[in-house]
Amino acid sequence: MKTLEADLSRRRAQNLYRERLVLESSQGVEVRVGAETLLSFCSNDYLGLANDPRVIAAFQQGAQRYGVGAGASHLVSGHSRAHHVLEEELADFTGAARALLFSTGYMANLGVMSALTDRHDAIFEDRLNHASLIDAARLARARVTRYPHADVARLADILKHAPRGGLVTTDAVFSMDGDIAPLAGLAGLASEQDARLLVDDAHGLGVLGRNGRGTLEHLGMPLAPPVILMGTLGKALGVFGAFVAGEEALIETLIQRARTYIYTTALPPAVAEAVRASLRIVREEGWRRDRLRTLVARFRAGAERLGLVLLASPTPIQPVVLGTAEAALAASQRLREQGILVPAIRPPTVPEGSARLRITFSAAHEEKHVDRLLEALAML
Ligand SMILES: *Cc1c(COP(=O)(O)O)cnc(C)c1O
Repeated sequence: MKTLEADLSRRRAQNLYRERLVLESSQGVEVRVGAETLLSFCSNDYLGLANDPRVIAAFQQGAQRYGVGAGASHLVSGHSRAHHVLEEELADFTGAARALLFSTGYMANLGVMSALTDRHDAIFEDRLNHASLIDAARLARARVTRYPHADVARLADILKHAPRGGLVTTDAVFSMDGDIAPLAGLAGLASEQDARLLVDDAHGLGVLGRNGRGTLEHLGMPLAPPVILMGTLGKALGVFGAFVAGEEALIETLIQRARTYIYTTALPPAVAEAVRASLRIVREEGWRRDRLRTLVARFRAGAERLGLVLLASPTPIQPVVLGTAEAALAASQRLREQGILVPAIRPPTVPEGSARLRITFSAAHEEKHVDRLLEALAML
């Protein structure tokens, strides 16, 4: 026990200690923490759907019809009509032959990699990939090579010396930087190599593309082999869960082999009903995406006037890199004192020396909220 305490004190001394806020309210632009009401720029609820009355109503009706728990895994007796129809709707939305629900994005990534690769295969990962993609390769026990961020040319060099086959994997929108992966180049390389490309679109789905179909639509790419799409339902869709979309044989392989699909209880069917309602809104209310773009443009123009260093992010993820964990933590604290909630993101979530404020926008924000944030940033 002594060693746990020593480790915890060391983390505290290094400004790396992590603590949770307790929210008294629903997720939204304003959240209540204790007695304070804070203007929030932290959530991944990009379209403002986590608290939408239509999604809540679908959730309630789903609970009335199906009860609360799924009661079993999908392969035993937990696969309901709600799950099944949602899978068909997700396949239709993404332009894939089939889609398969997973309980979380983390589990979906683990499931794909462990089903498609083993210790004889090679996995190639962008250096800034999300932790779930890194952990997935560990579970698959494959040989992992990490290539420099978004560097197609370097990956091409690496692949020249690699055996054929395997899996290339990347965040489509990088979760802590907000930039977009060079998916066309990566797909081309994967094809030449007889490899697959697993695209994790946790932050693009619903947000990017004219119809909200995500990063592939934004880049004008089809969802076809070598691409495998992983999308999450807890971010822009505002609910919970994840799915993998691709061709028939891929989905059947996952049903047979993905351990994080087979050995776990299915999502509550009411969650699937809520996602169906939210997906309809994503499809029908393009104004939410337009609004996000307007807010992001307003923020970037204002931040540039303040001389803040922004990253090349066209998405609602707008980091302000400050360097040390101490600087990021202090900035987050000063914003909090002004009633604004922006998280400090520190190593190991981001590389050493690039601790930052991670600002995220939602279609539920208004111009005046962006202006208040800019005023507070000006005083840092
Ligand atoms: C959030 C996130 C995940 C995990 O999704 P959950 O459904 O929250 O488990 C996976 N990949 C990326 C890039 C993410 O940002």
